[in-house]
Amino acid sequence: MNTVRLIYYSVATRDIAMSDLKQILETARKNNSDLGICGMLCFENRYFLQVLEGPRDAVSELYLDIADDARHDELTLICCEEITETSFSEWRMGYAGSSDKLQAILNKEDQLSFDPKQMNKTQAYAVLTAMAAHQDNI
Ligand code: FAD
Repeated sequence: MNTVRLIYYSVATRDIAMSDLKQILETARKNNSDLGICGMLCFENRYFLQVLEGPRDAVSELYLDIADDARHDELTLICCEEITETSFSEWRMGYAGSSDKLQAILNKEDQLSFDPKQMNKTQAYAVLTAMAAHQDNI
């Protein structure tokens, strides 16, 4: 079975409240568990940055479903590559939003603010893995 890591960013189409994030995460955690997919979602500054890891066919199908979601658009693929080991297997979908820790991690990656358009693959992966250790409990 081919396992892949897919990272993308997108832009919220409207104001995203905590209740919206809760709803997205509840659906993600339920579905991803059935699909064998894990990952991490960051939201800040109207941008979503998400990593999905799991079986190639399941990740591809889920990405297409997520791309259809009216809550965001301008989806841009940062990378999709085969991996031998997952990095986010503890989380069906982890979450982190704005925090001092996020700012410190961005600074370490030479980023002024949370703007995934300015991140290369290495920086996006570094931010997501670092934030996985500093998640918001929602
Ligand atoms: P439902 O949740 O019942 O959704 C049915 C349809 O309605 C879908 O097309 C959905 O896009 C749309 N929809 C649902 N709620 C709203 C709303 N409040 N406003 C507008 N349209 C809505 N899902 C996962 O399974 N795993 C993930 O990792 C994941 N990550 C996501 C990340 C982001 C940034 C966003 C915005 C959504 C994410 N989703 C994720 C949700 C995904 O886009 C679909 O909503 C979900 O896969 C469909 O789940 P469902 O079949 O239970 O249908």
